Amino acid sequence: MKKFKPLVKMDGGFLCRKCRVIIRPAYTKQEAQGETGPVFCDKCLSDLVYKYPTKNQIGFTGKEYMKLASKFSTLNKTQFENALKGITCQMINGEFVIYHCDILLALQCGLENRKPTGYEWD
Ligand SMILES: [Zn+2]
Repeated sequence: MKKFKPLVKMDGGFLCRKCRVIIRPAYTKQEAQGETGPVFCDKCLSDLVYKYPTKNQIGFTGKEYMKLASKFSTLNKTQFENALKGITCQMINGEFVIYHCDILLALQCGLENRKPTGYEWD
């Protein structure tokens, strides 16, 4: 399976893997080496999440989001899972379903190795 990794230019800026727009500069040594950091710009990442083929229209089951998360080779699983703790989810046919917006934020936190900011943490 093809995995997504951050794309860092020589001068240390991240490029979106899809549309090649410059996302932002790398802030840390780990980021400059492509070990962590954004893989897609906000728009492309949100497209990927919102257009992902999920069984339920409203969001992702545990299996589905783990499969999506596993496509990102540098995703920090701890940050990803922490961002999903305490969020609202729906129970559909005995399965927890997590909304797209929460998956999107959790992916961003996992990729950038950070916690949700107060502003995002709603
Ligand atoms: Zn893009």
